[in-house]
Amino acid sequence: MTTTTEPAHTDTPQAAGGTAIFDSLESQVRSYCRSWPAVMTHSQGSTLTSEDGREFLDFFAGAGALNYGHNNPALLDPLLDYLREGRILHSLDMHTSAKRDFLQAFSDLILEPRNLDYKVMFPGPTGTNSVEAALKLARKVTGRQHVLSFTNAFHGMTLGSLAVTGNSMKRKGAGIPLTNSSKIPYDDYFNGAVDDFMWLERVLQDSGSGVDKPAAIIVESVQGEGGLNAARLEWLKALSDLCREYDIILIVDDVQAGCGRTGTFFSFEEAGFSPDIVCLSKSISGFGLPMALTLIQPELDQFEPGEHNGTFRGHNLAFVTGRAALERYWADDSFQKDVQAKAADLRAGLTRIAERYEGAAVRGRGLLIGIAFPDASAAGKIATAAYELGLLVETSGPEDEVLKTMPPLTITSEDLTRGLAVLEEATASVLGDGDPA
Ligand SMILES: *Cc1c(COP(=O)(O)O)cnc(C)c1O
Repeated sequence: MTTTTEPAHTDTPQAAGGTAIFDSLESQVRSYCRSWPAVMTHSQGSTLTSEDGREFLDFFAGAGALNYGHNNPALLDPLLDYLREGRILHSLDMHTSAKRDFLQAFSDLILEPRNLDYKVMFPGPTGTNSVEAALKLARKVTGRQHVLSFTNAFHGMTLGSLAVTGNSMKRKGAGIPLTNSSKIPYDDYFNGAVDDFMWLERVLQDSGSGVDKPAAIIVESVQGEGGLNAARLEWLKALSDLCREYDIILIVDDVQAGCGRTGTFFSFEEAGFSPDIVCLSKSISGFGLPMALTLIQPELDQFEPGEHNGTFRGHNLAFVTGRAALERYWADDSFQKDVQAKAADLRAGLTRIAERYEGAAVRGRGLLIGIAFPDASAAGKIATAAYELGLLVETSGPEDEVLKTMPPLTITSEDLTRGLAVLEEATASVLGDGDPA
């Protein structure tokens, strides 16, 4: 209860607790907090704690922005040192030692060992900034306007990215026609009934098809938001070959599937090709700080100085944690092997659950996998039940029909097992015990 003698900003019971201010002041566009209304105050590793003292195991990892967990000390310590030393925080794209050290680590630990030759562009700090830069550059370089993207793709919320996104609810929010792009079927869209790329090859060959030759094709190796569809590696390679043949720029949006999520640093590494442009964001800072990169084949590096500008391109704190993450986890292949082992465990656990329910199927790749349920409402109910049991897990897909598990890559085996047990219990509470395998 505030009295006139108290300063207005003290922690009155009203100011300290409850969720009233979110409801009264924050826009109704807010979304995650509707499923998970607890007020979070602390986090460590794979656990968040709310102000009423509840602990939540994290199978969400900031939608992929927290691949190395919360407050990871290997990243926190250099960040705190940097802050205490009076170093540069904001610098537009001036030279800073933090940027130099990040670029050197990215070159030495990521690009060189993988034989990748890319220029690094800092496009502004979010995933959609990286996608916009990629689309704009592809159009500039080719002089063509059209871009092809895939059914159920998700590339971000600004107009250019939204034009290549599938989700009808999100597209409607644009308020204007989303033009200069068409959708083509993602791998297995017709359940194997139609040959891959038959339509695309035919319309590209046929000058009477009426389909403009595109500047670029943009693709996710695993569709994180679109329902955890994972393209086969040979399909991705064939897409790359087709782009080469027809002189089309191939953009891989690795904003969510990159930074180790699929078990290798880039999601396309094992497919045997390198995209012309790669978009990275979410976990590139490693610490949940905003940061994005657009990686460009050197011959495509054709923006004039300042032609694609922005105030927050390359944030020094994100350089510090991003470099620390690369040095801690990507100096050799031990982390990647560990992620692959955990991915196998998670897949086995989810498969055990899915097998009990008629028509349920495991989807995705690496630690970006989940269960698609035939009753589209099941996944959301299971996620709600899991939250009540202390587990954060979200849904994905056009009807939110997929229960999507995305724990930090650094999660312990014990926490992974514990989370799977909660999912099993939550699923049984919604769908019953199913058929024991
Ligand atoms: C999250 C995401 C984006 C958009 O990133 P923002 O930082 O939210 O703008 C783009 N592409 C993919 C594949 C994503 O998962």
